[in-house]
Amino acid sequence: MTAAPSSPISVLQCIDCGHTHPLDDPVYVCGQCGGLLAVEHDLERLRPLVSRALFDSRLGEVEPPYNSGVWRYKELVFPGAPAEHIITRGEGNTNLYRVPPKLAAWVGADRLMLKHEGENPTGSFKDRGMTGGMTHAHLVGATNAACASTGNTSASMASYAALAGIRALVFFPHGNIAMGKLAQSVAYGAVAVQVQGDFDACLDLVRQATRRYGIYLLNSVNPFRLEGQKTIVFEMLQQRRWRAPDWIVLPGGNLGNTSAFGKALRELRALGLIDRLPRIAVIQAEGAAPFYQSFREGFAERHTVTAHTVATAIKIGNPASFVKARRTLELTGGIAEIVSDQEIVDAKAMIDAAGIGCEPASAASVAGVRKLIANGVIRRDEDIVAVLTGHLLKDPDLIIHYHQGTLDGFQSTYANRLRTITPDLESVERLLRGDNAPGLAPR
Ligand SMILES: *Cc1c(COP(=O)(O)O)cnc(C)c1O
Ligand SMILES: [Zn+2]
Repeated sequence: MTAAPSSPISVLQCIDCGHTHPLDDPVYVCGQCGGLLAVEHDLERLRPLVSRALFDSRLGEVEPPYNSGVWRYKELVFPGAPAEHIITRGEGNTNLYRVPPKLAAWVGADRLMLKHEGENPTGSFKDRGMTGGMTHAHLVGATNAACASTGNTSASMASYAALAGIRALVFFPHGNIAMGKLAQSVAYGAVAVQVQGDFDACLDLVRQATRRYGIYLLNSVNPFRLEGQKTIVFEMLQQRRWRAPDWIVLPGGNLGNTSAFGKALRELRALGLIDRLPRIAVIQAEGAAPFYQSFREGFAERHTVTAHTVATAIKIGNPASFVKARRTLELTGGIAEIVSDQEIVDAKAMIDAAGIGCEPASAASVAGVRKLIANGVIRRDEDIVAVLTGHLLKDPDLIIHYHQGTLDGFQSTYANRLRTITPDLESVERLLRGDNAPGLAPR
């Protein structure tokens, strides 16, 4: 069905009952049934406007917004946004690494690539969603914006709110946030609030407060964020000259990204930009795996848990985007898997030592690939892209404790001990003769 030219190019649509709202309605759930909303674009009208050639032609852009790895795909993200009102830091444009041989051998994969979303302006993929969400907040005239966060959403929101001149209120679980993320939120000038509860309690509180006080909500239930996050998939495919891999593997917490990936793939296929769908594998931490539990039972039931994991970015017991994420797995023949915290920190140590580096939650994806290959679910010669979601410097405490052997309850399997010496050449010589530096001799 082709819509009349006067109808809006995008609407907010309930994923359950199909009820629609205009795009400038600041609502986050369906007014009819309470279901999640999605931004739905009129793909028939967009079809003649988008092409691989258009997106390629923007690769050399130096000016905003098209120099951004999100807004390069503006027609598929927020076609109606006036270019001069876009709040952007040139996010995206992240590397797609071919995995170095030693790491590839450890994972057991012949053709693994890493899409490094930690290379975004504030160090996580949250920036891709935030430029979409904050642009919408700006367009509807918001003066206050809030989010609940395990840290990266707050860091990102604090930065983009400062750019937009909007006051940011960020709420995180007390004592459960990595140092880098906490520092960023405070530094970018947000009202930073520690809540005496877990992430799920924070999100509950923020949803109530935003409704009551008319504050703009920037959690990933905000569908404009997911539109921005779709571009992880767009950009990765463009970097591969639009050849879809066999698998895309990513960590799952609140499941916003999993949801966005499914929507991205559905739209690309509908527009003829790709001809086959990769399968999505979502990796959860063993102690924070409600989605995995439901997947295992064929989604007969929606589980919630009290979450425990060192990977704080995925320490979530009641994922907000559960239903959308389930549809991503249904669309792509996808799967869910779990990895232990020990597997996460060891995978992280290997990714870090390869010279690439990531935050703990990101390493769940690589730990997941390794496990899925070991279990024969993924073949070692399949074409795999794993997503690294956050930057190494987000969680420096965990790194130092791991390598010093002081991470409580963990084995430091791949420790690189920090050494201390007295200031003389004898100490240096002793060091050079050590097992870690063979072959070095004084001249
Ligand atoms: C937010 C985040 C995740 C989890 O993503 P969801 O969309 O909530 O599933 C994973 N890793 C990092 C680094 C994050 O910031
Ligand atoms: Zn509805």
